[in-house]
Amino acid sequence: MLHERLSSIYENVLRRNPGEIEFHQAVREVLESIGPVLGKHPEYAESKIIERICEPERQIIFRVPWEDDRGEVHINRGFRVEFNSALGPYKGGLRFHPSVYLGIVKFLGFEQIFKNSLTGLPIGGGKGGSDFDPKGRSEREIMRFCQSFMTELYRHIGEYTDVPAGDIGVGGREVGYLFGQYKRITNRYESGVITGKGLTYGGAQVRTEATGYGCAFFVDEMLKARGTSFEGKRVVVSGSGNVAVYTIEKIRQLGGVVVACSDSSGYVVDEKGIDLDLLKQVKQVERQRMNVYAERRGSQAVFVSGRSIWEVPCEVAMPSATQNEITGRDAGLLVGNGCVAVGEGANMPTNPEGIRVFQEAGVAFGPGKAANAGGVATSALEMQQNASRDSWTFEFSENRLQQIMRDIHARCLNTADEYGMPGDYVAGANIDGFKRVADAMLSLGLI
Ligand code: NDP
Repeated sequence: MLHERLSSIYENVLRRNPGEIEFHQAVREVLESIGPVLGKHPEYAESKIIERICEPERQIIFRVPWEDDRGEVHINRGFRVEFNSALGPYKGGLRFHPSVYLGIVKFLGFEQIFKNSLTGLPIGGGKGGSDFDPKGRSEREIMRFCQSFMTELYRHIGEYTDVPAGDIGVGGREVGYLFGQYKRITNRYESGVITGKGLTYGGAQVRTEATGYGCAFFVDEMLKARGTSFEGKRVVVSGSGNVAVYTIEKIRQLGGVVVACSDSSGYVVDEKGIDLDLLKQVKQVERQRMNVYAERRGSQAVFVSGRSIWEVPCEVAMPSATQNEITGRDAGLLVGNGCVAVGEGANMPTNPEGIRVFQEAGVAFGPGKAANAGGVATSALEMQQNASRDSWTFEFSENRLQQIMRDIHARCLNTADEYGMPGDYVAGANIDGFKRVADAMLSLGLI
């Protein structure tokens, strides 16, 4: 239910952004949480802070022409939405996936504002990407695409302006090509212009692992708050990309057993626990599909296609693939099978009905804004190291990450308590993230 004033703001968002359903969903979820804040802080309404937060500061859409290995020319569309810079330079990843359109980039950029605020670090919110499909493309094609993308993007970004990173379809390889082209065009070795770089050219220890590790740390805190831990728990992780792989790695170190993971072709169940070395070989080195993992693993792993991974019984679920991958039905299955905690590694992977099912069943539900904030937090640490021409050790960086995740967890819980919604991490994350941005916007005047 939306507070009356928020309801009219939401109607306006629908009218001004037609067809952008993911963006509508992301806005609605935040507006549903912040009603109680307006009662305590009338100054936010007087300065139209919420209306301003829902409107990006700048939206850039551009043409990306590139040539494939056969000499055929392709045209893709590039996006960068610079959503809010009250707390620092716009910060958020780039997604290369055929489903990308303005509504996806705006939902991700909007979420990023509150996530970045929750980290307590000086970063604003933005996001970008392209409808380019990297699947099946050669190394050279990927490089040419990245170079063309950056040939336009470079004029909009900078260490003090807007700092992109990776997301779906954009990993270390793509970040390297993007940074290389930026350097070439500008003739500046401006390391802090992009994060997720390789360790040999300005990247930070633990950035690759950060989102997955951070999500596991966050769920560990949720479990501890309920007097339990990962030790011996059955866990299902969707996806098998950057976030999923390092979520699996950390859960194993924390004593959990990950029995299933997936890609868009299907899922694998491996009752003895996913073999991480084999998974990395198949997905990161060979860039193969999930069935290849099952074939190599032999009789103990089963590959299933065309069904939902959430039917696999588990005590902890970590959706780490894409938006709206857990529906109300999936959530019902998970609850019925004894799931006690959910940590969103992906952005908005649970739809509104799914969130309702989890919360009504008393499942500890960690929303992506909080649970996957370790990635962007470590990106901010990469910017800090670049600015000071320094590089920290793996151990030091991981400790910083763990402390940041503990702080985010505590802030979510404390804020939810303060507003009379104990244990509601969604409300806690939205309210806490919102307030910090709103206060900064008030201080900065009408900009
Ligand atoms: P990757 O590209 O490394 O991996 C994505 C994984 O999800 C792949 O296994 C992919 O399978 C699967 N997937 C993607 N789209 C779909 C789909 N439509 N249906 C089914 N499976 C799909 O991306 P990341 O691991 O970086 O990102 C995963 C999620 O985490 C995204 O929601 C992203 O926004 C979020 N996130 C990422 C951060 C980061 O630091 N990378 C930070 C915070 C959030 P396939 O290969 O078959 O497409």
